[in-house]
Amino acid sequence: MNMYDSARMRDALGFLGYQETDRKEEADILLLNTCHIREKASEKLFSEVGRMNEVKQARKAKGLDTLLIVAGCVVQAGGEELLRRAHAVDIAVGPQNYHRLPELVTKFNRKKGRVVVADFPAESKFDFLPETRATGASCFLAVQEGCDHFCSYCVVPYTRGCEYSRPADEILAEARRLVETGAKEIMLLGQNVNGWHGEGARDLGDIIRMMADIQGLERIRYTTSYPSEMTDNIITAHRDVPQLMPYIHLPIQSGSDAVLKAMNRQYTVREYLDIVDRFRAVRPDIAISSDFIVGFPGETDADFEGTMDVVRQVQYASSFSFKFSARPGTPASLMKNQIDERIKTERLMRLQELLLSQQKAFNVATVGKTLDVLMIEKGREKGQISGYTPYLQNTHVEGDKSNLGQIVTVRITGATATSLSGEIINPKAD
Ligand code: SAH
Ligand code: SF4
Repeated sequence: MNMYDSARMRDALGFLGYQETDRKEEADILLLNTCHIREKASEKLFSEVGRMNEVKQARKAKGLDTLLIVAGCVVQAGGEELLRRAHAVDIAVGPQNYHRLPELVTKFNRKKGRVVVADFPAESKFDFLPETRATGASCFLAVQEGCDHFCSYCVVPYTRGCEYSRPADEILAEARRLVETGAKEIMLLGQNVNGWHGEGARDLGDIIRMMADIQGLERIRYTTSYPSEMTDNIITAHRDVPQLMPYIHLPIQSGSDAVLKAMNRQYTVREYLDIVDRFRAVRPDIAISSDFIVGFPGETDADFEGTMDVVRQVQYASSFSFKFSARPGTPASLMKNQIDERIKTERLMRLQELLLSQQKAFNVATVGKTLDVLMIEKGREKGQISGYTPYLQNTHVEGDKSNLGQIVTVRITGATATSLSGEIINPKAD
């Protein structure tokens, strides 16, 4: 979501004639997008602002002015405090106000002082942001934002606000534009993407089915799904829509019903496993991934073993796992039975070892097979390019620039826990 937001902010500043550069020293605006989800992400901001300030000061010595803008959820959670702690920051803008960037930049006046904009405006930013264009073969498209679930550990409902679903016709128009400008794959984004409930369609399943009619759109993905909001129409789209990739990110968080209840997740382990079975019934090869939190307040050894058991049952193709981070303002941060850091670390290491071995097994099982790979970028080594299989495995092959943006057939010859290698058999005809 943050990558998508960053691109939209770049587009909004494009209104004023700004262009993206990766050479900081030539940037008139330095823009840092931030994440507030865990303490680690949030704290990184201050060291990064320090580095950006060095650039700002070096430019100042040459008589050049630089605007340092911080955007994102850290601003929403406490923009005033941010300005107090980070003196170099000129403008702080929360996630619902990116459409106001051109105005903020134009009106900024050093004499009048620094600015924080972190309200929840009545208008939707999507109505004011410029039209998107594809920036590569694989593009993001935000269909839903915010969250009404209020998991007891999570800051998202406070930083992104309540759920908002964009109307179906707006989503389809943006999808068509992305394809016209070069996208072959679209990843539909939402904090609670399968809970989409906007105008013009019954659910995300309908949106996916409508997108399947867009000529030239070869791959559709979506993330992140909330287990108990999954609908049959979405699940069966994995059977009916060939463009819908066989991959589902379905975070369980914990394999203990007691912990799920304390987290305010509205499903049980049994219900989660049933959803997994329904996906596998329509698409037996589907790759399943999840997020996990270990060391949630009150998590016992038995609760943690429950998580390990679920992992053994599901056999995940990939995953993201974190130590519980007590976030200010959330109910879980105030719970009395916080878990010792050492225990959290031990549990995370055990869980990650198991998850990584499953990920490796999943990758190794594809060796010898041929898979379609959408080539996205040049590799680190000369003559190498890389892309993604339908199961979202990062795959490296020998190839040149002409293959970028193409779906090619690759024979998989090697696998590690994190990537595949192979050789192109033939470029797939478009
Ligand atoms: N809406 C998605 C998750 C969005 S946040 C969902 O409900 O699945 C991405 C992930 O960050 C979460 O799935 C969770 O695993 C992790 N996360 C969120 N808050 C956290 C916290 N306070 N401590 C540790 N991990 C957290
Ligand atoms: Fe956060 Fe996801 Fe829970 Fe919403 S559903 S509160 S985004 S973890």
